[in-house]
Amino acid sequence: MLKRIVNFFEAKTLTSKPLVVDAKKYGISSSSMSKDAVKVVSTLQKAGYEAYIVGGSVRDLLLGIRPKDFDVATNAQPTEIKSLFRRSRIIGRRFQIVHVQLSRELIEVTTFRSNEQSKSATVALRSAQMQQNESGMLIRDNVFGSINEDAQRRDLTVNALYYNPTDNTIHDFTNGLEDIRNRIIRMIGVPEARYREDPVRILRVIRFTAKLGFEIDPRTAKPIAKLADHLSHVSAPRLFDETLKLFMSGRGSKTLSLLRDHSVFGALIPQADRLMNNGKSNANQLIEQAFVNTDLRISSNQRVTPAFIYAVLLWPEVERLSNQLQEKGNSATYALGKAASEVISRQIVITAIPKRFTIPMREIWELQLQLPRRGGQRAKRFSEHSRFRAAYDFILLREQAGENLNGLGEWWTQYQESNEEQKQAMSDAAGRIPGKKRRHRNPRKKKVIED
Ligand code: ATP
Ligand code: MG
Repeated sequence: MLKRIVNFFEAKTLTSKPLVVDAKKYGISSSSMSKDAVKVVSTLQKAGYEAYIVGGSVRDLLLGIRPKDFDVATNAQPTEIKSLFRRSRIIGRRFQIVHVQLSRELIEVTTFRSNEQSKSATVALRSAQMQQNESGMLIRDNVFGSINEDAQRRDLTVNALYYNPTDNTIHDFTNGLEDIRNRIIRMIGVPEARYREDPVRILRVIRFTAKLGFEIDPRTAKPIAKLADHLSHVSAPRLFDETLKLFMSGRGSKTLSLLRDHSVFGALIPQADRLMNNGKSNANQLIEQAFVNTDLRISSNQRVTPAFIYAVLLWPEVERLSNQLQEKGNSATYALGKAASEVISRQIVITAIPKRFTIPMREIWELQLQLPRRGGQRAKRFSEHSRFRAAYDFILLREQAGENLNGLGEWWTQYQESNEEQKQAMSDAAGRIPGKKRRHRNPRKKKVIED
């Protein structure tokens, strides 16, 4: 019975005959596409191959969104593609794709592939595909297939539309056009099996739902919470890249709430998720506000950096741990440094944050401790620090999230708007803040108590 139901659902997205529609109906013509992508397709077709523009660019154009890039799919094999274009190179070991450059734009050309784990892909491996890696294991990822199989191995129905610029037609094997019309994100095939095959698809469902403002089809949504911990099978560098796509998409707020609603956030940033769930700190306000700000910055073309976002996500735990270490008698500086190392080392096994980001993250955190100490020449020195701007934004964010920092943000805002003389007066006054005695301790004699 269960098998019959599964087959029924599979059948719904496994149509061998595509729906072919005139793209004019959707206001699309070859001039909507990148000139280079159209040229790549026509070169391939003139050489006797099938070729289409595929994936995100077709989806985005149907929705009136400017595509980020253009991908081409063809039945030509990587070496055959390469031989047709002077400026082209084969990249990737597992999945070979060809980067073709005609002018400035890079067009990614992929050969139709079948999903080797899918039961429907029963085509025998051709000898050309019987590649072996150094350890003698068969590499089955480059199993070439038909266009229909290529559509089935893609993730979402809305990402599996093929556009032929020569006759201006869209070829739809998975009811993607209908899902675009009804604004639905639907996984092709049996969702649970597709997530198990590649857990990153969980994140892609969430990313595109947020990006397009669609609803997730219930069958596609259902297994997500149960399978979210499978994200631990994904390599930390790949997961880091995926988190950036999620957090820096310009739809960060929506993405965060989807990740939390579907119990996925804990698999990515568990140290933030725990504090957001227990409600004892202001982690919720801080992180939610950070995404509101980040989305605004992106929409007004301001710079956002992964270091700032990760600094926010991990700050509540850094602060909690640092307070704990101070309660045990450690100095604030020591406690913060130790907490920062601990929190970063727990996170990088999940998402491999590169050093070029963890270093500025630590600096932003250290400056949180230092920016309140503004007396003498300190304010001048801090304001010249390469991370000052980010640390100042971080102070403003903490205040926006409801923390009382005794007007620290406002002080620094005024300081930056003042002339040299006023700045000196502000620093002198700050140095005289009552109760802020200078400490004269010999750091070498400092007692360090570790937990
Ligand atoms: P974006 O606008 O983010 O570039 P995109 O749809 O083009 O969106 P890409 O990551 O560039 O996404 O991937 C190109 C295409 O490859 C997708 O449209 C989809 O058809 C397919 N694809 C990408 N990742 C996967 C995956 N993990 N599983 C199955 N198919 C995938
Ligand atoms: Mg793309």
